[in-house]
Amino acid sequence: MNKSENRRPRIGFHAPVAGGLHKALLKSREMNCDAVQIFSRNPRGWTARPLADEEIEQFKIVRAETRISPVAVHCNYLVNLASADNEIREKSIKSFREEIERGIILGADYLVVHPGSAKGACETDGVRTCAESLKIACADLDLDSLRILIENTAGQGECIGYRFEHLRDVIAAYPELNLGVCFDTAHAFAAGYDLRYEDGFAATLEALESNVGLKNISVVHFNDSKAPYNSRVDRHWHIGMGEIGAEAMRRVARSPELAHAAFLLETPQDEKGDDERNIEALRSFLT
Ligand SMILES: [Zn+2]
Ligand SMILES: [Zn+2]
Repeated sequence: MNKSENRRPRIGFHAPVAGGLHKALLKSREMNCDAVQIFSRNPRGWTARPLADEEIEQFKIVRAETRISPVAVHCNYLVNLASADNEIREKSIKSFREEIERGIILGADYLVVHPGSAKGACETDGVRTCAESLKIACADLDLDSLRILIENTAGQGECIGYRFEHLRDVIAAYPELNLGVCFDTAHAFAAGYDLRYEDGFAATLEALESNVGLKNISVVHFNDSKAPYNSRVDRHWHIGMGEIGAEAMRRVARSPELAHAAFLLETPQDEKGDDERNIEALRSFLT
């Protein structure tokens, strides 16, 4: 057996930060996870309280102790880098720049962002606007330690990013930004990539490879979907209990083509123990 067949992805979930950002690391360790995703601020507000020095210090100390890696920060939901509305776009660029600065200060590895909604403009313009906004937001920042990952979307409303070609065009616009990709399984499935079957998954991997390069997928958002295939609706669901189903989710989890990425769950947190059960489901696929 060669090395690649033995390889297993690092796993984790979007962990809560109530009581401090470091709590996400502690919770992840408690659940025997390798990696984590957090919000570094309120995900539904324009303004963010600056990070206090003690908060940053504590996060770094606990991270060194727990060795949780990689750490991904998910951008807040208001940012719309593709907006055709200048006021919204400017606010988004400012807010996204703050997200980058927070990510760098915290020593995070990745910042995950959706390409945005091109409402009022065509998709091609939306893609171009998104790329330009990213370029402006990153101006004069040292991105060496933090990689920005563009996430594929379900294509809900007028969101771009539901075709891998959109991600390709955003990434290709400014190679110097070294943008990577976050591949969300629930979004891809709802957008018309049929992960349920072996051939559909193989075609999806091929499309990822030819458009963005599999090696550039640093994070997989490992979510089942409550929304049906090709519905363009974004509804994450418990692993193995949704429309993608356990067999197909197992195939994705065991895929050697994605084993270099961190698999992070964003499944519903409705009842106590949901995260534990979903992590257990992912772990069971890998053993
Ligand atoms: Zn996301
Ligand atoms: Zn996601």
